[in-house]
Amino acid sequence: MCKTHALSVPTAKAPFEKTTIERRELRPNDILIDIKYCGICHSDIHSAYDEWGGGMFPMVPGHEMSGVVTKVGTAVTKFAPGDRVGVGCFVDSCGTCEYCLSGEEQYCTKGVINSYNSLDYDGNLTYGGYSEHIVVKEEFVVRIPDKLDLDVASPLLCAGITTYSPLKKWNVGPGKKVAIVGMGGLGHLAVQFAHALGAEVTVLSQSNSKRDEAMELGADHYYATSDSTVFAELANRFDLILNTVSANLDVDAYLSTLRIDGTLVNVGAPSEPDSYQVFSLIMSRRSIAGSLVGGIRETQEMLDFSAQHGIAPKIEVIRAEQVDEAFERILRSDVRYRFVIDMATL
Ligand code: NAP
Ligand code: ZN
Repeated sequence: MCKTHALSVPTAKAPFEKTTIERRELRPNDILIDIKYCGICHSDIHSAYDEWGGGMFPMVPGHEMSGVVTKVGTAVTKFAPGDRVGVGCFVDSCGTCEYCLSGEEQYCTKGVINSYNSLDYDGNLTYGGYSEHIVVKEEFVVRIPDKLDLDVASPLLCAGITTYSPLKKWNVGPGKKVAIVGMGGLGHLAVQFAHALGAEVTVLSQSNSKRDEAMELGADHYYATSDSTVFAELANRFDLILNTVSANLDVDAYLSTLRIDGTLVNVGAPSEPDSYQVFSLIMSRRSIAGSLVGGIRETQEMLDFSAQHGIAPKIEVIRAEQVDEAFERILRSDVRYRFVIDMATL
């Protein structure tokens, strides 16, 4: 066992406490990682506040980990001490179902093991990246390209892959009109990916305050939805909408902006059900879909794509004792655009 410092919440909505947790002894195919940075995803808030239900406490959130390998198990072949690596939203899957075999471990039929708030296949509660070290099977570790600094790379491990994967799945590219709804941690990366893939990109944000930055990141158009007349102007415009918003929206209003056969893909995960008129779909053969992070192979592809195209999150690096305040600021949309915890401050 390896003892490591961590930030944990003892019960739902409680403030963070500095604590000590244990990481398992290295198995033959395990890697010990010295976590240098961990991004704060809005999912960490949904989970630590137990908004989705199923919260297991004490909880150590964090699934945007970047760091350096310090030790490898006897059967590890892909990594060596000193390698710069990342770990995202999940740390194990069955490895034998059709989805694991096709590289989409997140949809594992036995149930993927999340980096935190999951019981692993031995029944032990998983603890995430708000900690100094983690032990992970080598199959669930990705390599961080040299061109990406470790702090900047960390948000790509969740926010990056969660937006890259659906853009690829729905064939976003030249000639496609794509709307990104919500310019937060996920949204500001989605803008960069959709632009790099060659699409015409529109940002739909609540206010005008992020307009300049959206255009710098590659948006072609920007609308503030606080003015509800924009929906009439945008009628039947988009092939795809990627909704990254953490709260429920007026789904019918957004559907009205899709062309025939257009799709609204939800990655934002509000805890309450959405509602919409079926006629918003029927009359233009539209679809509503969802997407969960992305597989390990695609995560590596996304990191390499980011390095190649100069895609990087805009981050604010914070100290361990600032995490409660960061949660509150995220809830006020007061973050440009991702908080990243410097683990050396733990
Ligand atoms: P975030 O940084 O808080 O960004 C969300 C953005 O949504 C905000 O910046 C804001 O953008 C907009 N927004 C917030 N409240 C709104 C409201 N009431 N009405 C309209 N717009 C609102 O969060 P994030 O880390 O990007 O995560 C976003 C969501 O994705 C969360 O629900 C998270 O759990 C989920 N998620 C899902 C997956 C998956 O696999 N599907 C993975 C990661 C995260 P503007 O200021 O531009 O309006
Ligand atoms: Zn996340």
